[in-house]
Amino acid sequence: MQECSFNYELPGYKYEQIVAENIYESASPYECPSQDEAGLYEQIRSYSINVISRKDIKILSHLGCGQFGSVNKAQWTNGRRQMTVAVKTLTDSANTVKFLQEAAIMAQFRHPNILTLHGVVSAGHPKMIVVELMNNGDLKEYVTRMRPDPGQLVGDNVPHQLLDFSKQVALGLHYLSCRGFVHRDLAARNILVSNMTCKISDFGMSRDLADEDIYVSHGGVIPMRWTAPEAYTHKRYSTASDVWSYGCVLYEIWSLGHKPFETTQIRKVCNLLL
Ligand code: AMP
Repeated sequence: MQECSFNYELPGYKYEQIVAENIYESASPYECPSQDEAGLYEQIRSYSINVISRKDIKILSHLGCGQFGSVNKAQWTNGRRQMTVAVKTLTDSANTVKFLQEAAIMAQFRHPNILTLHGVVSAGHPKMIVVELMNNGDLKEYVTRMRPDPGQLVGDNVPHQLLDFSKQVALGLHYLSCRGFVHRDLAARNILVSNMTCKISDFGMSRDLADEDIYVSHGGVIPMRWTAPEAYTHKRYSTASDVWSYGCVLYEIWSLGHKPFETTQIRKVCNLLL
């Protein structure tokens, strides 16, 4: 049986230790992103994030379509170093603040299971966010590809890989919670995979928890199948509601890519739970 990779960039620490010793418990609370463009640039710079020149980015191929525009594979020339990265490009400048807020959120996190922000292209248009490239796409697609052919059993190694993914997402979420941060949109489609490492991404719906334990939403699209009942009925988001969504991610992982309440119409999902 093949061993799964579970290689954390925390020298000497194993998964069980990270949880048992709660090593992120004393981490500084996350700072809410600024509400205006100038404030956001200042904030991003204060986290020592690279301000990248447009000429240092060479687009190579299309990876996907995001909330604010396309996502491309690109080459970033950083001094003498060349790096293959993923670049998110903003198509509609009306969304500049929201786009940069996601960067200001990501800029604060440093954890092996959270997608790393390399820098922003802020001068001129279109604005770009440069993040690490995740070669195997999103976790939903990844586990869906692990389904066996009809009449076949899953491979011997599959349960170990799924357990490994489950632990990695838990570690990423544990870190976010220790930083006082609520993701609000945890789902396998928002977790990216590269070389058997899972990273939580997509901080567009995320909100601050530094001053209060629960975020009260003011509306917006809610991913019902993944959202805790108290979040969609009373707009109460918390680490506990993220943990509900984590349960849904576990369902997606262990069912090899089926979504929660798959056979139930979306408008009937809340009737089932309330
Ligand atoms: P997003 O805007 O994060 O929802 O991204 C849309 C799609 O682009 C995802 O579903 C992925 O297929 C792809 N993508 C986003 N970020 C990356 C990345 N860092 N590396 C590789 N592919 C990505």
